[in-house]
Amino acid sequence: MELWYCRVCGLDYDESPWGPDGHSPDYSTCACCGVVFGYDDYTPNSARGYRAQWLAAGAVWFYPNMKPQNWQMNTQLQQVPARYH
Ligand SMILES: [Zn+2]
Repeated sequence: MELWYCRVCGLDYDESPWGPDGHSPDYSTCACCGVVFGYDDYTPNSARGYRAQWLAAGAVWFYPNMKPQNWQMNTQLQQVPARYH
């Protein structure tokens, strides 16, 4: 099964929140960066803008209890799809 990676922070998901066709966002929230799928990750520019704000605010996990103990932010950021870098 192919993983889906958050366009803002690169967190991996078993299922795409953008739906099987890639155009049907479920408006859920990324556990890491807190982006609402379908809003701020809609275009490469909006994803970049949200990422810049999130990083500037200290890259805090939206759901802190889901943060891995050995979380490596830079490794995860490398998983952001190239189009959204
Ligand atoms: Zn994210």
